[in-house]
Amino acid sequence: HDEEAAAKAAAINADSGVPTIFDKIIAKEIPSTIVYEDDKVLAFKDVNPQAPVHVLVIPKVRDGLTQLGKAEPRHGEILGQLLYAAKIVAEKEGIVDGFRVVINNGPSACQSVYHLHLHVLGGRQMNWPPG
Ligand code: C5P
Repeated sequence: HDEEAAAKAAAINADSGVPTIFDKIIAKEIPSTIVYEDDKVLAFKDVNPQAPVHVLVIPKVRDGLTQLGKAEPRHGEILGQLLYAAKIVAEKEGIVDGFRVVINNGPSACQSVYHLHLHVLGGRQMNWPPG
């Protein structure tokens, strides 16, 4: 399965501290459609949307948060800010009545970018269980 192979390959670099594509998006070296931004958090449209609304919410400083599984007590504040930003995004995108927030953690969850990100998905009926 291509997706699984890509996720495994991405995980090899997970802890190497190398920059990810998201650093270039934060630095605005790569254009993105920004939905919300403050000093700590950036939210932008996913380039490969899985729903009519698909926004990624990321911390501007990675600080070791390659994935949720690396979270430490010091990350509590930014984790809360990311989740609150997801709610602001849902409001801005007009999906606050029905939306999903997803974090893929690690290869078996098909994480492909090792800079923590929340997916905010909506604008269609979201089914359960997810794939
Ligand atoms: O959770 P996962 O790591 O698989 O999600 C990474 C997401 O980043 C994907 O949904 C992918 O479409 C998105 N992406 C993006 N812009 C890029 C590279 C990846 O929106 N330049």
